[in-house]
Amino acid sequence: MKKIGVLALQGAFREHINIIKSIGHEAIEIRKAEQLDDIDGIILPGGESTAMGKLLDDFKIKDILIDKINSGLPVWGTCAGMILLANELDGNEDAHLKVMDIKVRRNAYGSQLDSFVAKEVIKEVSDKEIPMVFIRAPYIVDVGEDVDLIHKVDGNIVAARQGNILVTSFHPELTDDTTFHEYFINMTNNRI
Ligand code: GLN
Repeated sequence: MKKIGVLALQGAFREHINIIKSIGHEAIEIRKAEQLDDIDGIILPGGESTAMGKLLDDFKIKDILIDKINSGLPVWGTCAGMILLANELDGNEDAHLKVMDIKVRRNAYGSQLDSFVAKEVIKEVSDKEIPMVFIRAPYIVDVGEDVDLIHKVDGNIVAARQGNILVTSFHPELTDDTTFHEYFINMTNNRI
């Protein structure tokens, strides 16, 4: 049984906690830097990345989290969590943790397409179709050479991985499909 932390400063953390527990693992809400010492992986949930970035600083978690990720702690950012991990944000905004070599565009689908669901096979993850829920979602506009593309929807990169770092534009925690959570647990088994 793995112990997965879910950053619980803001956003959709409860949904991740419930799914991790439903597939037989322990899940804890992370609100203090010390809690990062004894987990097998961490999920940064969806929510509002500007608020979450500020809270990471206020709660003095930011620098320690960056160190842990750089030394191999498996991390998965969904939606706002993906924005937090990026090295660069499109436009005039400062990036947050800057641990993954991707450039991310926030609210990339614009206000006309605020949210939508797609269902496709993501070969890296499973042979069956996986529902992808997008809510004011970002996508990746540029990647460095160490980044593996996991999936594109309509030509835009919506899932990618760089070693111990996984990002998805969409929210598997808002569906009853546990495939992505199982994939992340697997990443913690093969910790680099
Ligand atoms: N639009 C949000 C942001 O920029 C992300 C949306 C989400 O996490 N569902 O932070």
